[in-house]
Amino acid sequence: MEKSFQSFCKFAKKMGAISAKVISVDTVVTAPWVRLKCQYGCDAYGEYLTCPPYSPTPEKTREVLKHYRKAILVHGDGYTDISKIVAKLERKAFLSGYHKAYGMGAGPCDLCNTCNVNKLCKKPYEARPSMEASGIDVFKTARNNKFKIEVLKSPDCKGNYFGLVLIL
Ligand code: SF4
Repeated sequence: MEKSFQSFCKFAKKMGAISAKVISVDTVVTAPWVRLKCQYGCDAYGEYLTCPPYSPTPEKTREVLKHYRKAILVHGDGYTDISKIVAKLERKAFLSGYHKAYGMGAGPCDLCNTCNVNKLCKKPYEARPSMEASGIDVFKTARNNKFKIEVLKSPDCKGNYFGLVLIL
């Protein structure tokens, strides 16, 4: 089992991630305030099917997390397509026999010019909600797993982005 998990980390890096780690799902933190940051502070709120209010609530995510033990946490920067890596890694894990594999990316979905809001997603095999859109405290979750992440104080600062693939 451990061997295939390491191969998932390697795959994420080959796809462009800066790093990827096998983590315990009990280090993933959800919080009710995360959704408020989407609603009051992000202009993508309500504009994408992968964002609140359409994405899973923190309560729903917390329930889902109870059914997993291990996940891959993927780290990238502003040049990394975290959501694409997560979708591919979810598929790879699924085809490797991990039938519950489910990924969460970073930021709003950019797969269509205009999102099919209020209807069905046009690319359900690829589109995934971000960790934050699913009510996960990404800062705390990253720090719990020894990644360095700080609040950016200017648009010139180098950003950190994270995605999560629940595996087992
Ligand atoms: S794939 Fe298209 S329809 Fe689906 S969430 Fe993304 S932008 Fe919206």
